Amino acid sequence: MKKNDFIELTIDDLGTDGQGIGHAGELAVFVDGALPGETVRAKVIALKKNYAVGKLDEILASSPMRVNPRCRVFGKCGGCTLQHLSYAAQLQFKQSYVQGCIQRIGKLDIPVNFPLPARHEYRYRNKAAFPVQQNGGQVEVGFYAAHSHRIVDVDDCKIEPSNIKIVMSQLRVWIVKNQIPIYDEKTHTGLLRHIVLRENKAGEIMLVLCINGEDIPSRSHLIMLFEFVLPQVKSIVLNCNTKQTNAILGERSICIYGKDHLFETIGGLEFKIGPQTFLQVNSAQTEALYNTLFRMLGLGPADSVLDLYCGAGTISLAAAQRVKKVVGIEIVKEAVDDAKFNATLNGIGNAEFFAGDTAALLPSVLERECISAVIVDPPRKGLDESVVRMLASSGVPKIGYVSCNPSTMARDLALFAELGYNAGMIQPVDMFPQTTHVECVASLTKTE
Ligand code: SAH
Repeated sequence: MKKNDFIELTIDDLGTDGQGIGHAGELAVFVDGALPGETVRAKVIALKKNYAVGKLDEILASSPMRVNPRCRVFGKCGGCTLQHLSYAAQLQFKQSYVQGCIQRIGKLDIPVNFPLPARHEYRYRNKAAFPVQQNGGQVEVGFYAAHSHRIVDVDDCKIEPSNIKIVMSQLRVWIVKNQIPIYDEKTHTGLLRHIVLRENKAGEIMLVLCINGEDIPSRSHLIMLFEFVLPQVKSIVLNCNTKQTNAILGERSICIYGKDHLFETIGGLEFKIGPQTFLQVNSAQTEALYNTLFRMLGLGPADSVLDLYCGAGTISLAAAQRVKKVVGIEIVKEAVDDAKFNATLNGIGNAEFFAGDTAALLPSVLERECISAVIVDPPRKGLDESVVRMLASSGVPKIGYVSCNPSTMARDLALFAELGYNAGMIQPVDMFPQTTHVECVASLTKTE
């Protein structure tokens, strides 16, 4: 096989980014857009020692699981890589992907359940962050192409609420009419960097303009475009990010219209949402995730719970209604302030929050409190080894693990198993239809 050859392949698997995988002899060939069960013709565009990459030329025999992607830029945008696969098959893929991580990385034999399906397959996100770039005379707003900083212009992202489309088209008008200078990441010049939108279940929208500066021209025109056309926009905020960084948001936010926050309802509780607040992006499915966790842990009125990596306290406050007491730990101080505010807002008096690094705060909290259940919901890199060791040596009866990354969860569950804590099963919860992302819940009990 040589580069630029056309080859025929039978696809037998899906890779972690949703690429079809076939074999030419011993060599694995990755083909974007091809599905398991399909025979395809592909052009070899990269040939490495251990694998090749093929560009899909023609589908010779199509999979019954193939569906028409709804999005116009499917295959170009790096976002939804599974839109061409039926939803039932997406869930099957996620189940076997998690099972594969558990076996291969964790070397564990834990059954993985079929994922809990999402209530909505499209339009489920409550947040969008669009980078903005100038390309010649054109202003492009959209998402990055896979593994790149090149923007694919998107006018209607199908996993975002439909009003986001109207907000974006109004913003394009404002940008073009007022010749708003667009940020250039190479030269660190220009003003507008990102547009962040949040929408709550009630349909209220917060618009955040991330700028390389302190103010924008033509504020009144911007406000007018929304005040009359889209009254659902309840908040317009400027977020100042003058650093040369890939981070979207800077530290300072200035509200220029309406309120500086929205409220979101999750599980009957109200949460204050600011430009910086971390919230699961699928509000409807967040309730299902938390209920699954509480059921698997068997939380009841006798429990005292420690919620590590608690963010704005969403898990803690939902748990607080069912248990004696909750203590939450979170490294971002503003999130802890939100958590305390949210506790008061909902009249919850049995939840306490501390700002700091889990590994640093854990020993004193475990010594002070009589904890019967620990919940961990770490970022993608998973748990520090020291945290796993501290939890295991504390002898706490039950541990609930919520994970957004099956690979690091598998690694951590392997260490827990070595230290006497085992999970009976893993329940994936689909928070991100059309993408390869999957959230998982495991409940661990002490078995030695
Ligand atoms: N449980 C929350 C948030 C989970 S996201 C929810 O369901 O909404 C993971 C959180 O871990 C983030 O809020 C992040 O700021 C926090 N975090 C990351 N590293 C941390 C550390 N070392 N100690 C404590 N919190 C940390």
